[in-house]
Amino acid sequence: MTTEKTNWRPATALVHGGTTRSAFGETSEAMFLTQGFVYDSAEAAEARFNGDDPGFVYSRYANPTVAMFEARIAALEGAEAARATASGMAAVNLAMLASCKAGDHVVAARALFGSCRYIVETLLPRFGVSSTLVDGTDLDAWKAAIRPETVACFLESPTNPTLEVIDIAAVADMAHAVGARLIVDNVFATPIWQSPLKLGADVVVYSATKHIDGQGRCLGGVVLSDEEWIADEVMPLMKHTGPALSPFNAWVLLKGLETLPVRVERQTASAARLADLLADHPAVKRLIYPGRDDHPQADLARRQMGAGSTMIAFELAAGKEAAFHFANALRIVQLSNNLGDAKSLVTHPATTTHQSLTDEARAELGISDGLLRFSVGLEDVEDLAEDLTGALARV
Ligand SMILES: *Cc1c(COP(=O)(O)O)cnc(C)c1O
Repeated sequence: MTTEKTNWRPATALVHGGTTRSAFGETSEAMFLTQGFVYDSAEAAEARFNGDDPGFVYSRYANPTVAMFEARIAALEGAEAARATASGMAAVNLAMLASCKAGDHVVAARALFGSCRYIVETLLPRFGVSSTLVDGTDLDAWKAAIRPETVACFLESPTNPTLEVIDIAAVADMAHAVGARLIVDNVFATPIWQSPLKLGADVVVYSATKHIDGQGRCLGGVVLSDEEWIADEVMPLMKHTGPALSPFNAWVLLKGLETLPVRVERQTASAARLADLLADHPAVKRLIYPGRDDHPQADLARRQMGAGSTMIAFELAAGKEAAFHFANALRIVQLSNNLGDAKSLVTHPATTTHQSLTDEARAELGISDGLLRFSVGLEDVEDLAEDLTGALARV
C-alpha cells in the first residue's frame, strides 16, 4: 500500500495520516479482523503472490488496519517505512536481528530497559554476535568501543529509570564512521518531543504499549527506518518469524495516535510542574527531570528534545524504607511498572524493574534504594501535587 506524501504538521498527520477507507466510506478507521484475504481467480492469487498485484496476502505479512497504523506513525516520525510488531520487545528484537549476523559486533548504552539489555548482553552473544556496553553519556567510551566490525549501536534517551540524556547526533556520527547503524529506542522521549531520524539515527523503535496506547490496554511495537532496509532486512524476518501485531491492537494504537500530542503535552506540562515541586521538597535528595536547568545534560536535552517529557525520577534521602512509605501512602498515583498511561504511576526500580541486576550494576546506573520513577498521567495536576506532598509528609 502506498501512502500519499503530504506536508501536514504532526497533529494533522496523527488524525488523518495513513487512512484508507473501505467501500462503506466509514469515518473512523475500520478494524480488519481477518487472518487472510480471498482472490477473484487463480490468476489473481498468482499475481498477488508473485508481486504483480501489491494487495494483501496474509496478516502475518501485512493487514489493512496494521498498515494504517504503520503509515500514520511513519508520517509523524518522517520515516520512509514502518513495521508494527506485537510488543515493544518484538520491535527491538527485530531491529537487532535485522542488523547483525555471526561475527558482528554491537555497542549499546548500559542504561537499557531490562529486556533490551538481555538481548544485547545474553541473546546476541549466543549467536556469535559480540557486544560491548558503555556509559551512554560518555562519548569517549562510545568511540573506544566502536570497531570496524561494529554493525549497530543501540541506545535509549532519556534512559530508564535515571533519565540520562545521550547525544544522538554524536553517537550517529561515530557509528556511521564505521558503516554501523544507530538504533534508538525513543519511548521515554516520545515521538512528540524527539525525532531521532532527524538527529541522524538510522532506526527508531517504540513500545507502542506506552504513550501511543496511552490508556494501558494493548501491547504493541514499531520499527521505523528507510524503505530499503525495511524491505530487505525487516520484512523477511516479519514474514518468516511471525512477530506481527494483531489487527485489534493495531486499531486501538491507531486511535491512540490521534490523541497522542494532546495527551503528551498535558502530561509534560504536569511533569514540569511536579518536578519543580519535588525538587524544592526537603525529603527529596535528588530530582531528575530532563526539562530542568539542573539536569546533568540540560543543554543537550534542550538541543535534542522539544520538552522534558512525561517521566520524573527522584531519590528520597531516607532510602528504601522512605520510598516504600511514600509509595504506600499515595492515594491517586498507582504503584505499577508500566508508564505513559493516563493514570499516574510510580515504581521503585531497585526492588522491581531492576531487581535482577547485581548491586554493582544498580550502583553503576545510579539506582539507589531511595530512587522512585514517576510516570505522570492525565489527572488534574493539583490533585497530583496534593497526593505527592501528602505522601512525602508521611516519610
Ligand atoms: C516498555 C519498554 C520496552 C518494551 O516494550 P513492551 O511493549 O513492554 O514489549 C522497551 N523499551 C522501553 C524503553 C520501554 O519502556
